[in-house]
Parts: sequence; structure tokens; C-alpha cells
Amino acid sequence: MSLILDDVGHEYETGRALFSAISVELIPGRTYAVVGPSGAGKSTLLNILSGNLEPTRGRVVRARSTTSNWVFQNPHGVPGRRALDHVALAFLARGDSRAEAEGKARDLLDQFALGSVAEERFRHLSGGEAQRLMLARAIAAAPGVLLVDEPTAQLDVRTAAVVNESLGRLAERGCIVVIATHDAGTRDSCTDVLDLAGYQS
Ligand code: ADP
Ligand code: ADP
Repeated sequence: MSLILDDVGHEYETGRALFSAISVELIPGRTYAVVGPSGAGKSTLLNILSGNLEPTRGRVVRARSTTSNWVFQNPHGVPGRRALDHVALAFLARGDSRAEAEGKARDLLDQFALGSVAEERFRHLSGGEAQRLMLARAIAAAPGVLLVDEPTAQLDVRTAAVVNESLGRLAERGCIVVIATHDAGTRDSCTDVLDLAGYQS
């Protein structure tokens, strides 16, 4: 299973070409940092990888069975639902019993320094907590591809390191992890760097 960018480029109707001629094969087990200055097209490339956006040049080749999961910069949770349940539901969906699902969800919340807010409703979480929760939920779903937009932008250095380690572990379990980031620490924690500055036309 892999995800191949074959000569991919993009230009919105209103603008200039953001990047062009990206040819790269993304493979499970690796973490890719998509970097470049603000406006370089990092989010655009994630949208293309997710299949939500057709590139105006080239194509994306993905295995039919690939499940991809997307973690946006703005967390989308269910306001009245407990933090724990967001993650437990992902395990339930994979066939775990309620007890197993809650146990695994608690472990994952602990890893993400969210153990103390497990019983809190989503609407009471801080921005950083909510974002980490969305990441924990995505990890619990064990996707083939995980696309993450700026996962460490709102985090202190220590928590950011925890998040980066978890993303690395997810990759080791056979996921392709792609992270759009400005954060040097996050970039350095990735196995590969895709610098959009190198693909300007
Ligand atoms: P980055 O994530 O690197 O900051 P983006 O992919 O968000 O870059 O945006 C790249 C450029 O494309 C920006 O100039 C942005 O304004 C523009 N852009 C983003 N989405 C659209 C859209 N739907 N239509 C037109 N222009 C867009
Ligand atoms: P599996 O057989 O699905 O790997 P495990 O019982 O070994 O199940 O692990 C339970 C779940 O824990 C995994 O499905 C995985 O989603 C999740 N998990 C916990 N921590 C991490 C992590 N840091 N990175 C990736 N997955 C994690």
C-alpha cells in the first residue's frame, strides 16, 4: 500500500501555481513533514492527498482500500460528548467491546496528557486539548493514511514532543503519516521532509 504523487501541481482559478511537478511515493512506516512558508500550499497538498481536491496537474495514485483520516487545524468534536467517548467510539467501531474500547481510549488519552480531562465534555476543553483529542481519535481509528495540519502549533514544547512521538509510533504500525507544519521540532521528528519551496515553478 502506498500513495503516489505523480507530477502533481496545483493552481487555484484565482491565483498562480502554488507548486508543480511533485513526484514522490509515500510509504507506510514513514512520517512526512510538508514544509514551506505560509501560503506555500501545505494545506492544499493535504487536501489533494485526501482526495478532497483534484490537482490541476498530475495525479495521485492510491490503493483502493486505503482509509485516510484527516485532522484539521480547527478541532471538530461533539460539544456535549465526553472526551473519552470521542476516542472510545473509534475503538468500538473497530469491533472492541465497550470495556476494551474505554480501556484503550484511557491509555491513549494518558499518552496525550489528556487523562485528567477524560470525563470532560468536548466544549469545556482548551484549544490545545481539543486538538490533541482529535489526534488521539484519529490514531484510534488506525487509518492507512493520516493527514495532519499543524498538530503542534498550539502546544508547549513537551506536549508537542509527546504528540510527535505518537505520530511516529502510528507510522511504525503501518500508517503513512503526513504532517503540514511550521514547527522545527515537528519537522525534525519526521523521517522525511517535503519542502514545497523546492517545487515552485
Ligand atoms: P499553507 O497551508 O502553506 O499556508 P494554503 O494551501 O492554505 O497554504 O494556501 C496556499 C494559497 O492558496 C494561499 O495564497 C491561499 O490564499 C490560496 N488558497 C487556498 N485555498 C484556496 C481556494 N479554495 N481558492 C483560492 N485560493 C485558495
Ligand atoms: P492492534 O492489534 O490494533 O494494534 P493493540 O491492542 O496493540 O491493537 O493497540 C490498541 C490500539 O492502540 C491500536 O489500535 C492503536 O490504534 C492504539 N494506539 C495506542 N497508542 C498508539 C500510538 N502511540 N500510536 C499508534 N497507535 C496507538
